[in-house]
Amino acid sequence: MSDTQSSTPPSTGRLLGGIEGGGTKFVCVVATGPDHIVAETRFPTTTPAETLDQAIAFFAPYVKSGDLASIGFASFGPVDLDSASPTFGYITTTPKPGWAHSDMIGKLRQEFGIPVAFELDVNAAALGEYYWVPENRQHDPLVYFTIGTGIGAGVMVNGKLVHGLAHPEAGHIRLPHDWQKDPFKGVCPYHGDCFEGLATGPSMNTRWGQPAETLPLDHPAWELEATYIALAMTNVVCTLSPKRIVLGGGVMQQMHLFPLIRQKLAQYLNGYIQSPVLLTQMDSYIVPPALGTRSGGLGAIALAQQVAG
Ligand code: ADP
Ligand code: ZN
Repeated sequence: MSDTQSSTPPSTGRLLGGIEGGGTKFVCVVATGPDHIVAETRFPTTTPAETLDQAIAFFAPYVKSGDLASIGFASFGPVDLDSASPTFGYITTTPKPGWAHSDMIGKLRQEFGIPVAFELDVNAAALGEYYWVPENRQHDPLVYFTIGTGIGAGVMVNGKLVHGLAHPEAGHIRLPHDWQKDPFKGVCPYHGDCFEGLATGPSMNTRWGQPAETLPLDHPAWELEATYIALAMTNVVCTLSPKRIVLGGGVMQQMHLFPLIRQKLAQYLNGYIQSPVLLTQMDSYIVPPALGTRSGGLGAIALAQQVAG
């Protein structure tokens, strides 16, 4: 556990709380926006009761002093985002032991009496990229993908996140799978060789017998990875007609994937969609997150700001 204090909280004001609740760690932030992070802490995800109590302990002084206006909670999923549902703010069916059907926000609301907004982590990251990055606001619909331990997407349309039935699960779309070229059966417990089954960090690790971050640049893994990501993006372009796609998550820290993905996406679309962006400006169409690894945390702060009143 580590704490950093980058400045003293002002005695009055509109501080915002953000929680990025992941399957392995929680990150809690007090901030007013990307340029003013007041305090930050991170701790491992253990049991729901212990982990949420740690978050409550971190924010308590800021609530007691009257400085914290609201909290945004960006949770790992799947989650219930239906505000009319009795289990709104719950994690639903996760295989993570002890976490299925657990209430993420009830105790925070009860203890603090301030607004607490709730979102899926990847949705919050999409919101963060949209909300804090003026250039991204010019590209609506905006789609944000994380390609890391899992694969997920958040979709901003007309300035709002798409929820629909529950929330998009674009990590589980099906892709053409050439079994001769890639005999790997995939790691998704539900679908085997869906996008997530074929292209997450853990699937690369299992297929190649070593962590993705240790694979050399000239390893065939990267060409195959770019192929799956570009196939997925082809489906996304054809269904959602996004004006920009942001690709984040651990695997996308391999910057050499970007030109490969752009080139393959253009090849798969084959000139069918007559948009100058797709035909000549692919470099500004498929982009890394402007907020780096902070999209989710700053997305949680954006959620807080939206409910701060
Ligand atoms: P999470 O999805 O758990 O929030 P990440 O987005 O960092 O976390 O994803 C972790 C996965 O990404 C791991 O499977 C890891 O092997 C892979 N990964 C992390 N960093 C890199 C990197 N620099 N290059 C390639 N793969 C990476
Ligand atoms: Zn799947």
